[in-house]
Amino acid sequence: MKTGYTGLAVPGPTNMPFQVRKAMDVALEDHRAPDFPAFTKPLFEDLKKIFKTETGRVFVYPCSGTGGWEAAITNTLSEGDTVLASVFGQFSLLWVDLCQRFGLKVDAIDVEWGKGVPLDDYRAKLSTDKDHRIKAVLVTHNETATGVTSDVAGVRRILDDLGHPALLFVDGVSSIASIDFRMDEWGVDVVVSGSQKGFMMPTGLAILGVSQKALGMADGAGLRRCFFDFRDMVKTNDQGYFPYTPAATLLHGLRASVDMLLEEGLENVFARHHRLASGVRAAVEAWGLKNCAKGPEWYSDTVTAIVAPEGFDANAVIKTAYDRYNLSLGAGLNKVAGKVFRIGHLGWLNEIMVLQALGGVEMAMRDVGIPFQAGAGVGAAVEHFTDTRAGVRMAAE
Ligand SMILES: *Cc1c(COP(=O)(O)O)cnc(C)c1O
Repeated sequence: MKTGYTGLAVPGPTNMPFQVRKAMDVALEDHRAPDFPAFTKPLFEDLKKIFKTETGRVFVYPCSGTGGWEAAITNTLSEGDTVLASVFGQFSLLWVDLCQRFGLKVDAIDVEWGKGVPLDDYRAKLSTDKDHRIKAVLVTHNETATGVTSDVAGVRRILDDLGHPALLFVDGVSSIASIDFRMDEWGVDVVVSGSQKGFMMPTGLAILGVSQKALGMADGAGLRRCFFDFRDMVKTNDQGYFPYTPAATLLHGLRASVDMLLEEGLENVFARHHRLASGVRAAVEAWGLKNCAKGPEWYSDTVTAIVAPEGFDANAVIKTAYDRYNLSLGAGLNKVAGKVFRIGHLGWLNEIMVLQALGGVEMAMRDVGIPFQAGAGVGAAVEHFTDTRAGVRMAAE
């Protein structure tokens, strides 16, 4: 029998705050009650602050993040439309697969796993697309499989430089509410997130930011949709209701989550993630191991994929951590299966929770025979956390 907490160091689901759990411990209610809009309307407004949009809208669907991808595509595009994408991990790959299954032509640029959106290639493709056949450009903001963050603003700059009218779609499932994201400033047309990552909630909600431009595509878009139709959401959400039974219990959790994020302040939330992530990266370096992300410009502040040294199976580290030490680590997916293990460091998290994960990793690595000085990684993180003040971005960075 296992005693004590099981450490959850996967990049989603993340740790759920007591406040969120308590907020969901409510009697079920009538989602058509006269006072329901008094609850939902301010929630929609406050969600816009999380996405940093004043001109766009936010939709909340009862499904996982993958459903959000489907909503983005089917509300805006038609079969045979071309979209520009890049693949550098399991999530960017699955998004392309979804587009292909809907009959879109995907111009998918293959990128070495460990790097992110190739701005030069995007510029080259878009600048030769004189008759604007590319209808949408896809950006996986944070590739959770490899721990790589891409430059969304850079893609916007390219579209603006070229005067290209393509829609800009962002997968922000593992970045929203953890890493800086600015929907209006970056001209993002649809951004998709999910409840079980930065929002610190159970799985079950896809939360989307949608621009007026994307909303305007719904009538002309040829792809079929019903459950995900933005127009039904607009009509009912405007009155504070939904086109179907909403996941009201989860919405109470979301209310608590948004309150916590706004109370801490988004910039402080981002700084906290950066500081905790830097501690993890210091540990990886002290172990003498490699980050799967190929350089600091790609480093993710929400997840770090660590490359197991030659001759060692990353899955053995994960299994040992779980079986012996009650610690869940993220597995390598697809191309990097068995090669990397991942530490999720997002959501409701502080220094000692990170140190717990690092300590568990050290025990598991020692058990499987990976050579390193016990305590080296934990020590490096301890130094990092004590050398930098909580909530303050290091002056040097
Ligand atoms: C988790 C994740 C998804 C998938 O979301 P689900 O909620 O599992 O459907 C998509 N993209 C990224 C970047 C993710 O991290």
